[in-house]
Amino acid sequence: MTELKLSESRDLTRIERIGAHSHIRGLGLDSSLEPRDVSEGMVGQAQARKAAGVILQMIKDGKIAGRAILLAGQPGTGKTAIAMGMAKSLGLETPFSMLSGSEIFSLEMSKTEALMQAFRKSIGVRIKEETEIIEGEVVEIQIDRPAVSGAASKTGKLTLKTTDMETVYDLGAKMIEALGKEKVQSGDVIAIDKASGKITKLGRSFSRSRDYDAMGPQTKFVQCPDGELQKRKEVVHSVTLHEIDVINSRTQGFLALFTGDTGEIRAEVREQIDTKVAEWREEGKAEIVPGVLFIDEVHMLDIECFSFLNRALENEMAPILVVATNRGITSIRGTNYKSPHGIPIDLLDRLLIITTQPYSEDEIRKILDIRCQEEDVEMSEDAKQLLTKIGHETSLRYAIHLITASALNCRKRKGMVVEVQDITRVYSLFLDVRRSTQYLMEYQKEYMFNEASIVDGGDA
Ligand code: ATP
Repeated sequence: MTELKLSESRDLTRIERIGAHSHIRGLGLDSSLEPRDVSEGMVGQAQARKAAGVILQMIKDGKIAGRAILLAGQPGTGKTAIAMGMAKSLGLETPFSMLSGSEIFSLEMSKTEALMQAFRKSIGVRIKEETEIIEGEVVEIQIDRPAVSGAASKTGKLTLKTTDMETVYDLGAKMIEALGKEKVQSGDVIAIDKASGKITKLGRSFSRSRDYDAMGPQTKFVQCPDGELQKRKEVVHSVTLHEIDVINSRTQGFLALFTGDTGEIRAEVREQIDTKVAEWREEGKAEIVPGVLFIDEVHMLDIECFSFLNRALENEMAPILVVATNRGITSIRGTNYKSPHGIPIDLLDRLLIITTQPYSEDEIRKILDIRCQEEDVEMSEDAKQLLTKIGHETSLRYAIHLITASALNCRKRKGMVVEVQDITRVYSLFLDVRRSTQYLMEYQKEYMFNEASIVDGGDA
């Protein structure tokens, strides 16, 4: 494996839906890392946002690697929202990947392999590559449609021929964009990167040909290059270690990157890749960009996974690990021991702990306002007040769920604005946790296998 295969997967676009956190666009901090009251979709939770901002700054400065942060707090207090805020603020260059603790218990691969893949998805490699540029005189430009006032038409199809290579490059839209934007004219020398097709205008030595102005669909230009032409250019590829693993794994191949069906990757492949990357780093060809791995519901991991994490964090290429849990003192999965958050003490000791607090009524109101906007729901003032009260007395999540449900109810009665009646209707249709529990307690005898005695704390 002398030549590692690389690919850029940054261009893949994802379909954006309105998800639970789609309103979060960052941490909402100012330049001195102070949290703004309502900003980038974030409301309140000032201390936790500020702490996350400090970590984020350290990540951006490249100062830390292999650190771990625990976001701990009651359900629905914005732990995941804060992690998403961090992800949004990181920028494309820094990899961010997330998984939920329970996801690692899959049949397709071992728990530790799943964690290893998650770790390597969170480690970026910036590879600098010197690529050869094909440079040549523009001898012929064909445009399907006549150009508009001397500049190439943005809609036409364009073919460029170079003398030295005697090759025809049909570069279509890319070429047209370059020509349109930079107004490349006859006499210009153009460099084309063979690998990426990227076009660079290098200089002009000729005045515009008269033919050019009167150009028809097929016009010929001849020009001479002037002076030395740039021959080499530096191109930077940003990939993750996991992408390099998959591409070089003979059993899987690069298509697995699209299907996600990567299976287990052999340890030897990883070792070879680590050695190669280490070589590149020494030669100054590559640098490691530690990203962020977010594991939600971390209490779902078991003792083996925790021990894996402990060790993985020691690696010099380790990413920043952010974990979140809403559990108090509980069993460590796979053992009979109890520990804070169900996390072994030795791992806890490594974690910087950020806590989240329950929201005030005012903050709940602001979050609901943002969610209404996000879900494109118009709601009357009274209805919002009622929903806020419900959110305060039940949970923020329950209130958020009622937004879409009440909007559907409103639409059904052909209304345009969600009113109190819509909220009360869906409130009676869908139970919150407290009412649901109450209901179960009342009617438990009607259900199979009821274990109400456990809930009561007494014997049956
Ligand atoms: P759990 O412990 O149950 O996983 P959590 O602490 O991770 O809960 P989230 O899922 O982040 O809670 O929050 C619940 C909902 O409220 C989400 O839709 C989230 O985007 C939104 N939310 C929570 N906190 C904020 C906040 N400070 N600003 C804006 N939206 C928030």
